Amino acid sequence: MSDSKYNHSIVLKALAFAAEKHRFQFRKGEEQTPFINHPIKVANLLTEVGNIEDEATICGAILHDTIEDTITSCADLESMFGEEICSLVSEVSDDRFLNPIESKEHQVDYAPFLSDKAKLIRLADKIANVYDIAHFPPAHWNKQRRKKYLEWSKKVVDQIRGVNADLEQKFDDVYFEARKILSIS
Ligand code: ZN
Repeated sequence: MSDSKYNHSIVLKALAFAAEKHRFQFRKGEEQTPFINHPIKVANLLTEVGNIEDEATICGAILHDTIEDTITSCADLESMFGEEICSLVSEVSDDRFLNPIESKEHQVDYAPFLSDKAKLIRLADKIANVYDIAHFPPAHWNKQRRKKYLEWSKKVVDQIRGVNADLEQKFDDVYFEARKILSIS
């Protein structure tokens, strides 16, 4: 018997659920990779870089875009995965009633009030997104828009520092690499 702290079945259940929900979606980057690659990457950053073993956090990462980007309600998540995972995903979902500018400001303002587990998911999400904006940007995004995205991401991360030094360092590495790629001095 394995003594792993993971409940593998719930992690796989979350993967299967997210894969089904995101099945027709692609990332915005020019390469049009399947959307599900993104939440998998976010969860993997948590385990590989952040050494996170908490299954609610891992499942929350896998499911983090289901409420925002698919037809999934908090109640759906709660009935399948329980209250903690449902509330984690809600915490990191943008409010549908805010316009894009308001929701970006809201993310910065409310970042300090996220639970620690939600902060970890937010942090890993920002690492994955900043990496993609540097390496696989959406075709219609000019340099200015990419730069703005980087700076906004850093603002959010700066509000949640103190939860996981390794993930924060990884963000800084990816952020400075992205600045180099976009030749920002
Ligand atoms: Zn995401």
